[in-house]
Amino acid sequence: MNRLRVLDAVREHGALTQVEIAGVTGLSAATVSNLVKELDVAGAVQLRPSIRNGRRATQVSVASSSGLVGAAVFGDRDIRVAVATGPADIVSQKRMPLPADHAADEGMTRAARLIQELAEGAGHTAADLRSLVVGLPAPIDTVSGEVGSEGVLPGWRGVAVAQAMQDALGVPVLLDNTSNLAAVGEFKLGALQGISTGVFMKVSYGVGAGLIIGGELFRGSAGTAGEIGHVTIDENGPVCRCGNRGCLDTFVGARAVLAALRPSHGSLTLRDVINRALEGDPGCRRVLEDSGRHLGVALAGVVNLLNPEVVALGGQVARVGEVVLGPMREAIERCAIPSAAASVEVRVGELPPEEADVRGALAVADQLREEADRAALAAG
Ligand SMILES: [Zn+2]
Repeated sequence: MNRLRVLDAVREHGALTQVEIAGVTGLSAATVSNLVKELDVAGAVQLRPSIRNGRRATQVSVASSSGLVGAAVFGDRDIRVAVATGPADIVSQKRMPLPADHAADEGMTRAARLIQELAEGAGHTAADLRSLVVGLPAPIDTVSGEVGSEGVLPGWRGVAVAQAMQDALGVPVLLDNTSNLAAVGEFKLGALQGISTGVFMKVSYGVGAGLIIGGELFRGSAGTAGEIGHVTIDENGPVCRCGNRGCLDTFVGARAVLAALRPSHGSLTLRDVINRALEGDPGCRRVLEDSGRHLGVALAGVVNLLNPEVVALGGQVARVGEVVLGPMREAIERCAIPSAAASVEVRVGELPPEEADVRGALAVADQLREEADRAALAAG
């Protein structure tokens, strides 16, 4: 416990001399001297000679965390992996396509191999990897570490993903939903930086949200907080792939957007619709404006419940900006209580859609590494 007190003191105040550490922690100079020696041997602190008040002194600072952290983020049709020294410092990254209905085993085997290849390609060994965060575009039950809903991502249902990846790589692994991870990415490095309460909305092929409450990601009791895509906005609406009726996803998900345009525009991809809307195509703009309205109706409830400072829109659809943001703001103003609607700022996320979740995964992996380091120190 005393070692952690010393470590927390230098983490909080920056580099300190041993006399200063004794002052901050209330420990005796002799105790601090012994603890610093132990921490130095454990590689947890760096010692640097300096001069204080004309006398020689040793400055103690936190050693920069060693090794690599990893991220493996699955989309419906691809996987993006990265290894990094910290969330802002990616060492190497790669994207690979995956078959649409791939089995979980196949995806996980590929992810583990890619992570090892990236580490080795960057001049590290596989043993330098300290932690990994896996992202899936599905509700995650954090208690069981499995995909938490039938019908969403069928090839992954009932698979203990975190445990399997942990066995494959021999490091702590955490599994989370990609919207949650993107929210963390925007919170650490993008549009939600410095806020206390905020909502990240991801709108791509599907729709999801990540909630920042009190400066932290809010996962709820079992990890499925923020599943706004399966909030009912029309009780008599179309049947959703989750089994419910009239979910937000059945109105703004790519299937609905593309189906609405098929009679007039033929077969388009979501990317086509976004590009045409940006070029001014009235039909494509109209469908995305309608998406904005539906998103705003669902968000009004969230705004009433959480009173967020910022709602940040991410995912591919965010590229159309005001086409979708304008109707979203109007619907929030119409449906939420005026004071909550007045205090929320609705804007586009700052990180590219294919980057926000990877950055967030690396940030969470960095926390996992730090927890493992602290546990090792506390155990002696
Ligand atoms: Zn649904």
